[in-house]
Amino acid sequence: AIEVKDLCKNFGSNEVLKGIDFHVNQGEVVCVIGPSGSGKSTLLRCVNRLEEPTSGTILVEGVDITDPETDLDKIRTRIGMVFQQFNLFPHLNVLGNLTLAQQRAKRRGKAEAMDVARKNLEKVGLANRENAYPAQLSGGQQQRVAIARALSMNPDMMLFDEPTSALDPELVGDVLAVMRQLADEGMTMMVVTHEMGFAREVGDRVVFMDGGVVVEQGKPEDVLGNPQNERTKAFLSKVL
Ligand code: ATP
Ligand code: MG
Repeated sequence: AIEVKDLCKNFGSNEVLKGIDFHVNQGEVVCVIGPSGSGKSTLLRCVNRLEEPTSGTILVEGVDITDPETDLDKIRTRIGMVFQQFNLFPHLNVLGNLTLAQQRAKRRGKAEAMDVARKNLEKVGLANRENAYPAQLSGGQQQRVAIARALSMNPDMMLFDEPTSALDPELVGDVLAVMRQLADEGMTMMVVTHEMGFAREVGDRVVFMDGGVVVEQGKPEDVLGNPQNERTKAFLSKVL
């Protein structure tokens, strides 16, 4: 679970997050939507401390990750991250991509790491591509490898930052299907997305951000189907 309280983040004089209260319960899928520049990625990056918050608290599985005493490496192994750009290691094949962090950060032996990797490749429908290099795969396949790599660390939760935004339209569905399956299996997920269909069907809750604040949140059918705030209405009228 994630619990964010009164989170502020400034870049110099630019106040990007202005007192965010946000949570993701265990097993919950929360979709974060909002215009470009509203602070969605910054919020997500604060949750695993790729960004350092200016003020506020962030609890991950009950541990305050804003406390300087917290072991960030340990926390990060519990949080799987998937970005818009797939960030695979280009010089490693698929199996290499899936086993490296397991061996380094989880101290797994090679055989165990390969076992875990193969299970997760099967899960994302790429069991037959374990020897391929990233450049030999489509964007959708690369993104599914990135998801399998994150899952191979056995994270408690997964954070997705526009995982399908860089994909050709015909490749989006395969990636969303994998994410939907993860959600069905009970994974705790924070998903920044422009895929309103996914948010509506898979999200337990939708959070609309604008200008560094949470403007509106609730069940997908309420936020997307019957928004109360004028800014939410204006945003949805552009994207739906
Ligand atoms: P998008 O939908 O385009 O991805 P976003 O909602 O994810 O937008 P952020 O990437 O969180 O928005 O950016 C919010 C604001 O913070 C922007 O004004 C951006 O310029 C600024 N910002 C983000 N990262 C940095 C950084 N590392 N240094 C300085 N400013 C930054
Ligand atoms: Mg972003």
